[in-house]
This record gives sequence, C-alpha cells and structure tokens, in this order.
Amino acid sequence: MSEDIFKKLVAHSKEYGFVFQSSEIYDGLGAVYDYGQNGVELKNNIKKYWWDSMVMLHENVVGLDSAIFMHPTIWKASGHVDAFNDPLIDNKDSKKRYRADVLIEEALAKIEAKMEKEVEKAKKRFGDAFDETQFRATNPRVLANQEKWDALHKRFADALNDNNLEELKQIIIDNDVACPMSGTKNWTDVRQFNLMFATEMGSTADGALKVFLRPETAQGIFVNYMNVQKTGRMKLPFGIAQIGKAFRNEIVARQFIFRMREFEQMEMQFFVKPGTELDWFEKWKETRMSWHQSLGFGAENYRFHEHEKLAHYANAAVDVEYRFPFGFKEVEGIHSRTDFDLSQHQEYSGKKIQYYDPEEGKSYVPYVVETSIGVDRMFLQVMAASYCEEEMIDGKGQKDTRVVLRLPAQLAPVKMAVMPLVKKDGLPEKARAIIDELKFDFKCQYDEKDSIGKRYRRMDAIGTPFCVTVDHQTLEDNTVTLRHRDTMKQDRVEISKLYGIMAEAVSMKSLFAKLK
Ligand code: ATP
Repeated sequence: MSEDIFKKLVAHSKEYGFVFQSSEIYDGLGAVYDYGQNGVELKNNIKKYWWDSMVMLHENVVGLDSAIFMHPTIWKASGHVDAFNDPLIDNKDSKKRYRADVLIEEALAKIEAKMEKEVEKAKKRFGDAFDETQFRATNPRVLANQEKWDALHKRFADALNDNNLEELKQIIIDNDVACPMSGTKNWTDVRQFNLMFATEMGSTADGALKVFLRPETAQGIFVNYMNVQKTGRMKLPFGIAQIGKAFRNEIVARQFIFRMREFEQMEMQFFVKPGTELDWFEKWKETRMSWHQSLGFGAENYRFHEHEKLAHYANAAVDVEYRFPFGFKEVEGIHSRTDFDLSQHQEYSGKKIQYYDPEEGKSYVPYVVETSIGVDRMFLQVMAASYCEEEMIDGKGQKDTRVVLRLPAQLAPVKMAVMPLVKKDGLPEKARAIIDELKFDFKCQYDEKDSIGKRYRRMDAIGTPFCVTVDHQTLEDNTVTLRHRDTMKQDRVEISKLYGIMAEAVSMKSLFAKLK
C-alpha cells in the first residue's frame, strides 16, 4: 500500500462517514477530527475489544474513568511541566516547522529502505534458493548501509539522552536533511517546546487556577491508586484500565488521525512488586502483541521497536509498530515506569501511597508496567489494513473494481444490511420485520435504494460483513439470500438461522479465543 492509496483512504473515510475534519465549514481546525456515523461505531467496537480484553479477561484488572481536569501539581509531580517537550526546528525558507527527532527518524528509515530494496532485489534474483540471513550478513551494499544506520542511530540516541539540541541540529545538517517543502537545508536552531495545553479554571476575581488538559490518561490512574486498591481490596499484582481523551499541542500534525491535538487513549497501569517489573513487562509485551495480531492483519506487519531514549520515568520501553502505508510506525507503547509516578505523587501530595505486602510483612511503593495505545491511531491502523481495491467480474460478466473494507466482522460498524429486492409487494415490510428481530443484538441497516449490486457496493465500502436480500420467495418460504462481503458468495438461508450465523461471526469471543 503506497502513499497514494493512503490519500484514497483519507478520502474514503470522509465519503463514507468515518472521519470528518473538525469545524470543516469554518475551514477546519489543525489536527482535530470528528467521527461520523460509521466512524463512531468502528471506534466504539475497537474500544470494546480493548476494554473487555482487559477487564473481562483479567480478573485482576479493573476499570476507571477519571476527570480530564486535575490538580495542576499533578503535572509538576509527574514531570510533564518540566520535561514533556519535543525538539522543534524550522526551515527558514518554507517557514515550516518540524520535529527534529522525526526528521532524523526519517533519515534512518531511508537507509533502512535502501537495505530492504537490496534484499527484495536479491530475493527475486535467487528465488527459492535465497538465504536472507546470509545475504544480509555478507552483501557489501547492505553491510555498508547497516554500518551507516548504526552510526547515525547511536549519534541520535546519544544526542537525545544528553538532551543535546545543538547536536540534533548538527545531525540534521550532516545527513543533508532537506525541507520537503522548500527543498533547502536552511535550518533554525533546535528548541524545546512543551506539549501541554493550559486553560484557566474559576473566575479571575477569585484568582483563577491555571489547569492543564491532560496529555495522558495515566496520571488519573496513579492518583486514584489508593482509592481503587482500598475499595476494591486489590492485591498486587493488579491493573487499572482507562479509556479517555488526551490533549497534546503537537508541533507537526500532518498525517490525518495519526497525530492529533485531541485524541483518545486506552491505558492500563499494572502495579507489581518491585523487582518483578521486567518479567511483567515481557508478559504484557506478549499479551499486547497477541491482541493486535488476533485481528488477522498479518503477523509480518507488526514489530517491536526499542526506544532510542527512555522517558524520564522508565527502565524499559518498547513500541508496537504497524506497517502503515507510510512505513512502520508506533501504535502502542509498553513502558516499565518503575515507582517513579507513585513516589512523586507521594512526595508532592504528602500522602502515603504504598502497598502493605502481607507475605513480606512490609509496605512499599509498587512498580508499574503500562500499556498505552491510541484509539485513533488504532482506528487508522484498522482502516489501513482493511482498505482494499479489488478486481472483480460484475453480474453482467464485465470487469470491474470494488472498494471493500475487509474489517474484522467484530469491528464492523454495521453488521448486516437488509434489502428488499423491490420497494413493493410487501417486501419492505418483511425486511423491516427481520431488522426488528435482530436490532437488539446487532447493528443493522435497511437499504432499498438503487440496484442490489449498487447496494452491495455501498455495504462493501463500509465493511458490512453480511447483506440479506428479501425477495418474493421470502414471502412464501421465509428464506433470504445471505451475501458474504469478502467472498461475495450467496447462500439461501432461513430467516430463523440469521441470528445464529451473525452471533457466531460478530461476537468478540472468537477474537478473545485467539489471545495468548
Ligand atoms: P509519538 O512518538 O508518536 O509522539 P509517544 O511515544 O509520545 O508518540 P505515548 O506517549 O507513548 O506516545 O502515547 C501512547 C500512545 O498514544 C501512542 O502509541 C499513540 O498510539 C497514542 N498517541 C500519542 N500521541 C498521539 C497523538 N498526537 N495523536 C494520536 N494518538 C497519539
């Protein structure tokens, strides 16, 4: 899938009611988006897949819904006021702003792409006899590029870890990174930019309080740790899961819903005994990767990526990356956050935040392993993985193409469309009666406009797994034509069988059964 297809996906998302630009009639607001009638259903299904996999499948994971506004000292304690920054750089000619770290990551990706190209070429040349490992270890061009990559990567990681902004700029210059807009290398110095949005609470007469819009949901979990642990009588290890909005004043936000200024996160903080955190980190890595791969988009499209720089709170961190049309990119972060956050809140609040361990006979501040995934980024991942332009032969034997969203049936916004063949003879009433029976369990849609072929296409375009056509025979024997989205196969089935067929195909149970 290329950048070109990505543009089509963005257009498709709008045309079929998945994602709209926010405030569009006022020319939009940068990096803020709204979800339309189909988008909101898909988004809710993604959230349900995550939520249930956390709080239903793990008896020691419970939920929480904390407020967006929190006491401002929380963000001081968490380190966000002082350290939640991105390094920015401007091109003096285009006046465009970039994240310095992202420019360098792109330079690294270019070298990686060169190596991949060599491997692909050789694969074609040698066919079945090709030994990729040996090729990578011996081919001089691959080796030279690998050396270049390693050197650049080390320099980049060192600069990040030392917070050396001059060196970041120097790396950009030394690697001939040009602005994609102006094509020039006329760069400003690199500066730090804090990503938190601030606003005021209370009237100014009272002395308004400067509060922040939370840049992550995690802190709401940390400050409720004692509440949940006590009232739920939770024993370590246990987790708290939360889904909610987060806000970041992103410097560059050009990739549709990949990077937004208002977005949603699904985060789970898992509290463990100190010293066991790295084992739990490994366990959650595996669990989360399995959650992604159970959707069936191909294991080869996921990988783990180690962080170049550990955040100020972490002793291990890894990203789950997916192969987007624009390359491998982060969808989820898994972080071992040590006891940093709870200790900080203990210190700043002056309240004891500890766990009494009956086996050890003592109290301590628990360690934390976090899994943090963006709902919107996951949404984009699901859309990108499902979008498909397919060659086909139409009903008249002509070559044609169809756009089909091959969404996992469990996530599809509409599960079943019911269509009367014609708008008369009692067929619409029969179709509506079928919907009335199924609508308590499944999101159904009635459609009577245009030819059946056109109606199928509309449903393919939003990923509806099943279409049911009601015809004259239905009135005689209570059977309908059931058409499957992916195979386009059509079966004649009894109306009474529809519930069972749907229940099996769209229940999350079949996804959960695949989880490790
Ligand atoms: P990036 O490096 O892409 O800026 P991050 O490492 O800062 O992301 P985390 O703080 O680990 O991201 O946030 C966890 C998850 O939240 C990310 O994996 C991503 O899915 C999501 N996320 C973070 N920032 C955004 C954003 N601006 N828009 C949409 N989703 C986001």
